[in-house]
Amino acid sequence: MAVRRSWKFLLRPTSKQAAALTACLDDHRQLYNAALEHRRTAYRKAGVTIRYGDQSADLKHIRADDPDGQARWSFSSQQATLRRLDKAFAAFFTRVREGRTPGFPRFKGRGWFDTVEWPRDGDGCRWDSQPHHPTATYVRLQGTGHVQVHQHRRVVGTVKTLSVKREGKRWFVVLSCDDVPAESLPATGAVAGIDMGVASLVTTSDGTFVVNPRHLAATAERLADAQRDLARKKRRSTRRRTAVARIAALHAKVRRQRLDGAHKAALALVRDYDKIVHEDLRITNMTRSASGTVDAPGRNIAAKSGLNRSILDAGWGVFLTILSYKAESAGREVIAVNPANTSRACSRCGHCAKENRVTQAEFRCTACDHQAHADVNAAINILRAGLALRQAAEAA
Ligand SMILES: [Zn+2]
Repeated sequence: MAVRRSWKFLLRPTSKQAAALTACLDDHRQLYNAALEHRRTAYRKAGVTIRYGDQSADLKHIRADDPDGQARWSFSSQQATLRRLDKAFAAFFTRVREGRTPGFPRFKGRGWFDTVEWPRDGDGCRWDSQPHHPTATYVRLQGTGHVQVHQHRRVVGTVKTLSVKREGKRWFVVLSCDDVPAESLPATGAVAGIDMGVASLVTTSDGTFVVNPRHLAATAERLADAQRDLARKKRRSTRRRTAVARIAALHAKVRRQRLDGAHKAALALVRDYDKIVHEDLRITNMTRSASGTVDAPGRNIAAKSGLNRSILDAGWGVFLTILSYKAESAGREVIAVNPANTSRACSRCGHCAKENRVTQAEFRCTACDHQAHADVNAAINILRAGLALRQAAEAA
């Protein structure tokens, strides 16, 4: 079996190349903003919806009019940037259709646009562009040249897409590869259901709690504070700019910590279980936003802040993405089930009532008096639903 995976390597550009990379990012950012402006005015003034195809067709003229600017870069990477805007609009309209009130896609300021993608290796970019070099690996980028790569791991499979990313003062190249041979793990004979929460990122049906790292909760808390603080700053003031920069830095930190925690949790699950059953997040999110209620948050998290909670919650999507990717390459099975009633049904007798849930953490069945941690009880129900789903699929 083959899977898709990505590799990220540090780039070692010369100072001239670093300047070219900066110009490349900035031109792509301006292209993104110009395309966004185009869509906005067309919609406001004429009620016309501009599509990706229209904007992609304009690229030819944009390049012809700007031979020393936009024309320096790869046509395909510019198309990828326009597609990225298209995705932002698609997501916006999806949220509108779901009856939510999303923010309109935003202009990207300096420092808010840090990635350029080349959708195909060999088209405006070339991985391992100097294969006969005795000591170093290079990547060729149109408009920048052959940039040295600190390749600390071997790349296997076929390079499909290539991105350049700026993180602070450092530059990275990210390769996404197809046809990577999967490394299956030996079967353990164990299966688990997992319940996703706030205090514990996941709780397994056999009673293991994978706690959200405390430092993540602390950063989330600081981020929530910083955002409240920002609301009090005057528009266009220096203090406001400082506050915005602080928020951006905290967001980046939350992302790193969340990613790190998600990797560790997913790795542990994939090592221990052949089958892992989780709640289908699309359904979970829908029911949560429809009911409009926020459950009482977990014990470790201050109740004061819905924002804080939502920052921690947002980790589930990241976690599930990582889990499914790790599971796939280890030959494990991941099953998603409808989460309806998993938290109110008794895992021993099946009696379903909201009175069963005594507190956020405590479950006590009003019919059979079964007592358990509420998240473990839910995880067992989730596991059972997943195994039933598999059985039904095999019988069909
Ligand atoms: Zn019961």
